[in-house]
Amino acid sequence: AKENGRQGYQFFTPTMNVRAVERQFIAEGLRRAIAKDELSLHYQPVIDVRTGEITGAEALTRWTHPARGPIAPDDFIPIAEDSGLIIPIGRWVMREACSEAQRWTDAGLGPITIAVNVSAMEFQDHGFLTGVLGILADTGLDPRRLVIELTESVLMRRVEATAEVLQSLRERGVRVAVDDFGTGYSSLSYLRKFPVDALKIDQSFIRQITTEGRDTTLVTAVIHMARSLKLRVIAEGVENVDELAFLKEHLCDGAQGYLFSRPIPGPQFMALLAASSVH
Ligand code: C2E
Ligand code: CA
Ligand code: CA
Ligand code: CA
Repeated sequence: AKENGRQGYQFFTPTMNVRAVERQFIAEGLRRAIAKDELSLHYQPVIDVRTGEITGAEALTRWTHPARGPIAPDDFIPIAEDSGLIIPIGRWVMREACSEAQRWTDAGLGPITIAVNVSAMEFQDHGFLTGVLGILADTGLDPRRLVIELTESVLMRRVEATAEVLQSLRERGVRVAVDDFGTGYSSLSYLRKFPVDALKIDQSFIRQITTEGRDTTLVTAVIHMARSLKLRVIAEGVENVDELAFLKEHLCDGAQGYLFSRPIPGPQFMALLAASSVH
């Protein structure tokens, strides 16, 4: 077997070899990450464009590797997805995010929503729905406070099963947002089939919103479309006041980005919430 493995390597270029070793390293580290308490969540505020108030937070997973330090989600989430580890990780994220959000409510800092990213594999796992409902019951979080962020690709796959799970979630009041809107499929037919509540315009469109004519037109069109479909629309990656002014003028509902805050640890987010809430 060793012999075969060696021969196998001859098919790879040196760079591919390094990448394969790196992926293996990440996957093995991830396998231990939950048990060893190396994962944590950061929270990024979602702002009401009109009032400037915090209306919610998005939970974003952070991994601090014991030897290597912080590893970016873009470097480990895809590997977690390929290896199936996204299922236990996603379950951990959901529980952690819901109990943190309930902490805010208990502290009288609400009501705000908590958005959790859910990968295709997690969403299509048979245990997903019961898992989420169990976590809501355990943490006591009002289902209406939870937003599940799905990408367009999830909504294009296994349509019937997806519709069923979405319907069950919505019956309980859980909301669904389409993440990275505009980067996935060109077909918008899923918007007709699925009961979604919000669109999140991908940050790649926001980046040049005030300078690149095409992006200006696209974002304006998406906002108008969302509004006429009675969907909430949130702009991601808002970094400066010109972008915010543009979004305000074009009646975008929500905004998220470094202009307001980077993703921050739970206690820091709670302090931000306390400082910004009107009592
Ligand atoms: P995403 O869901 O699109 O999350 C937004 C990303 O944009 C986050 O990167 C956030 O830190 C970053 N961001 C926010 N505001 C700005 C801004 O103003 N400028 C710029 N340049 N970036 C901004 P992050 O935390 O590195 O996460 C990357 C991706 O990893 C996420 O993209 C999401 O797809 C995935 N991810 C993170 N946590 C989870 C998780 O718990 N589960 C799953 N399935 N995926 C996750
Ligand atoms: Ca997201
Ligand atoms: Ca996004
Ligand atoms: Ca993304």
